[in-house]
Amino acid sequence: MQKKCSRCGNDMEIVLRNVVYRNRVKILNVPVHVCVDDCCAHSQVVDVIKDDLKALMEELGQHPERQAIEFEEMSELSNLLVLIANEGMDSSIREVLGERVNELLDLFLLAQSLGDEKWMRELRERLTKIMV
Ligand SMILES: [Zn+2]
Repeated sequence: MQKKCSRCGNDMEIVLRNVVYRNRVKILNVPVHVCVDDCCAHSQVVDVIKDDLKALMEELGQHPERQAIEFEEMSELSNLLVLIANEGMDSSIREVLGERVNELLDLFLLAQSLGDEKWMRELRERLTKIMV
């Protein structure tokens, strides 16, 4: 189940982006859906991590200190995507990780389309690690 662009209907792919919050906090490796059409280039934060990102920003507050936060340390999805992007990783391991990511995202899209809040929450919890 591929996510489609809400603007032009093209496929969207997942990339890791750095998000800057309040000009002071750099949040690294945030999974973002980007439209494959270069002219459109519409992008949006991947739904399943939206709430985690929002919670992080609320925690940082209105006047955060200058800092960089590695999102992969609090998000299993981000962590998996960072591993997959790692060129040095064995290609068969990358494939397995990629399948796991797709599976979880597919399930989340399905839960979302069914409006099943409880299931969405469960999947989100599976994709989120608590920061140690
Ligand atoms: Zn588009």
